[in-house]
Amino acid sequence: MRLWPRHPAAIPLCLAAAVEAQDWAALRENMVRTQIERRDVRDPAVLKAMRATPRHLFIPENVRNSAYEDRPLPIGHGQTISQPYIVASMSDLLEIQPGHKVLEIGTGSGYQAAILSQLAKQVFSIEIVDALAKTSTRTLRELGYRNVTVRSGDGYRGWPEEAPFDRIILTAAPPEMVQALVDQLKNGGRLIAPVGTGSQVLVVVEKDAQGRTQQRTRYGVAFVPMVPGRK
Ligand code: SAH
Repeated sequence: MRLWPRHPAAIPLCLAAAVEAQDWAALRENMVRTQIERRDVRDPAVLKAMRATPRHLFIPENVRNSAYEDRPLPIGHGQTISQPYIVASMSDLLEIQPGHKVLEIGTGSGYQAAILSQLAKQVFSIEIVDALAKTSTRTLRELGYRNVTVRSGDGYRGWPEEAPFDRIILTAAPPEMVQALVDQLKNGGRLIAPVGTGSQVLVVVEKDAQGRTQQRTRYGVAFVPMVPGRK
């Protein structure tokens, strides 16, 4: 007896959906193993979040089939969702604790915010393109990430009403470190940002208990530029 219909069209719709869901899960598992664990990301909470988050639901349908590939993808408005490894690596370098309040600059698709929301207590995210702020808000709400607040605005100013933050992550590159954002970091806090024009480097800023800062450069990256804010 053959249990499986030979022709895909013969599979009832609900079963087809289940088969498809399984495919996404398998692709995601493969992404975590080959692109993230095999490189240098070790934090179990980050790996768990990468395994649990449906990246394909954060991107437009025309690129959905590439959702779990080892590269950034276009999300419209000239913007991109970062490569999965970069999302995981930056989350790992931030060393987020469950009680933390996190600020993200550059919400984009909302995918990085969804990962952060599983590591922290609260996530605040600022996006300068109104349409992206709206779509990402809807995606995050529909998928049940309730501890993320997105607002449309200029990331260079940070979010003074919610400051200070335990952790700050920039996912668009300013030409140089943004002092207003360093100022919104708690003592003992950490900020991560791609910095530079043309060639960029990933910079980690640590603020000690006395409020003194120290910077370390990690590796070269290629993010979209952080656009100057609206006046
Ligand atoms: N974190 C995103 C990827 C971000 S791409 C994700 O997971 O999908 C960078 C984003 O930064 C873009 O959406 C871009 O519109 C936004 N951006 C650029 N300049 C900005 C600024 N000054 N303030 C806030 N957002 C900005």
